[in-house]
Amino acid sequence: MENTPAKIVYRFGEGVYLNITNRCPNLCAFCIKTKWKMDFHGNNLNLSGNEPTAAAVVAALDKELSKAPFKEVVFCGYGEPTMRLDVLLFVAQTLKGWMAQAKYPPFKIRLNTNGLGNLINHKNIVPSLVKVVDQVNVSLNAADAQTWQKLVRPEPEYQNGYEDVIEFIRSCVEAGFERVVASCVDKTGADPAAVKQIAEKAGAVFYLRSFLDATH
Ligand code: SF4
Repeated sequence: MENTPAKIVYRFGEGVYLNITNRCPNLCAFCIKTKWKMDFHGNNLNLSGNEPTAAAVVAALDKELSKAPFKEVVFCGYGEPTMRLDVLLFVAQTLKGWMAQAKYPPFKIRLNTNGLGNLINHKNIVPSLVKVVDQVNVSLNAADAQTWQKLVRPEPEYQNGYEDVIEFIRSCVEAGFERVVASCVDKTGADPAAVKQIAEKAGAVFYLRSFLDATH
């Protein structure tokens, strides 16, 4: 599969997914990008360092969206989308424009993230996101900082990021996204019930993800 061209846009369930970067400040113990060698259900997501321009993403997306029905467009991929905030915002803004023109039947725009976007971008990115994204799914994964560090294995700069992830969730809830989800991957050693409690205290909807479904 690694010999096939890398996908910027791929389908999964009723969603059209965007792979805009492979970079991520975490190295989660459960991340399937290493387990599955950058393949996702037959899609090669290995950009090999050639991250697509915003224009290339929009062109690939337009082509894919016209092919078959879909319910949502999801920024996910094998990497952290907020590493490329400008591209994310430009593409999401373009999608909102298409929605306003009714170019495609109504759909939702979702961001799957590790919740470190404010740290990555050295600013509060929530006000920009809420203008163009409908739903945010944040990978919370642990009920305490120590377990979080052990599971997501962040780069040294992000070692203390656990509280920032919770703050990001809270801030998304306050900003008024249609839906804010905080997830925990099952069978990693974290306590899902305790993670649920923290997610709900922050105002998010809790989601327990299966072990082999896990990027972010
Ligand atoms: S699961 Fe998400 S946050 Fe964790 S290493 Fe993979 S891409 Fe990064």
